[in-house]
Amino acid sequence: MEKKIWLSSPHMSGNEIKYIKDAFDNNWVAPLGPNVDGFENELANYLQTKHVAALSAGTAALHLALIILGIKKDDEVLVSSFTFSASVNPIIYQCAVPVFIDSEKDTWNMSPELLEKAIEDRIEKGKKPKAIILVHLYGMPAKVDEIMQIAEKYDIPVVEDAAEALGSTYKGKKLGTFGTLGILSFNGNKIITTSGGGALISDNEEYIKKARFLATQARDTAPHYQHSQIGYNYRMSNIVAGIGRAQLEVVNERVESRRKNHEFYKNIFQNIEGIDFLEEPDKYFFSNYWLTTISIDENKTKGISRETLRLAFEKENIETRPLWKPMHLQPVFKKYPKYLNGVSEKLFEIGLCLPSGSNLTEDDKTRIKNVIKETFKI
Ligand SMILES: *Cc1c(COP(=O)(O)O)cnc(C)c1O
Repeated sequence: MEKKIWLSSPHMSGNEIKYIKDAFDNNWVAPLGPNVDGFENELANYLQTKHVAALSAGTAALHLALIILGIKKDDEVLVSSFTFSASVNPIIYQCAVPVFIDSEKDTWNMSPELLEKAIEDRIEKGKKPKAIILVHLYGMPAKVDEIMQIAEKYDIPVVEDAAEALGSTYKGKKLGTFGTLGILSFNGNKIITTSGGGALISDNEEYIKKARFLATQARDTAPHYQHSQIGYNYRMSNIVAGIGRAQLEVVNERVESRRKNHEFYKNIFQNIEGIDFLEEPDKYFFSNYWLTTISIDENKTKGISRETLRLAFEKENIETRPLWKPMHLQPVFKKYPKYLNGVSEKLFEIGLCLPSGSNLTEDDKTRIKNVIKETFKI
């Protein structure tokens, strides 16, 4: 069996070890230290934003965002249905209620139309939603202007889940910096990784100070350990932050490689009917193309379906994956309110994520290309 080609695997720059060694040499082996401070500053600088807190995971960042916005028991939070469960779980941690919003066809992200419909309907039912979690899936910016306008009209804060979208921009501005708060993930499969980690972003300094306070067990100022609130152990470690600093040095190259992967697939599929790519709708959208994703219309491919292609890859030890299963279809979230238009369900049925690592070799690409050529007989 040839070596496995992964969907998206960690891609080290080589400099990580320098920052880690520095932490060891100075005994900063703790959830604080110069790498944490450095990573936060360098990330803020990259994002052109004011304040960043480095945390243990993207999920932790989302959880703190909801706590900071005061989300509590029975509050309703509007959230994209077409996403990873981590976008939703923190709502449940707060004993609040997720309200799922389906996607629009251009970016596969939250439909502004359905968002407004949902807000009107929830208000009519007697409960105004307390927050919107806007996901930028697969690195593609959502329709930011439309969503932000609606959020402002109804005065509802937006938390951007930019876990998959580091380096993507909308109208030249980095994703994660539009909302009241934004989050990033540095999990092993993301565009850069710290092995595991996340960040919370905001223009509001008080929010980020609060996040750091809550993430370190909510210790009041006192010589002894004094607590007047419930805290969390969500801070990023100084070792992990060292990995992040080295990864951040190469983030633009990583984005470039992923965008080249997208071009690579577009070239292969250009003469095959029935294949649609998730693509930037116009010049305002800049995607990091974290994953290249397609949908396959088997009525136009002579019966070759998503599953045909997925299994052909699997046989060659190449990992691909169906698109996210919408949250409103997940057994654990079935009972919650939802506003649907069929878009995410259809995408789940016919969509596929293709191997998209920034570390794909020419050899890997040849193997991938051969599977596609054989499957579609071109
Ligand atoms: C990865 C991911 C998260 C969670 O990030 P972790 O760092 O793994 O906790 C949240 N939302 C989306 C859309 C993700 O892809």
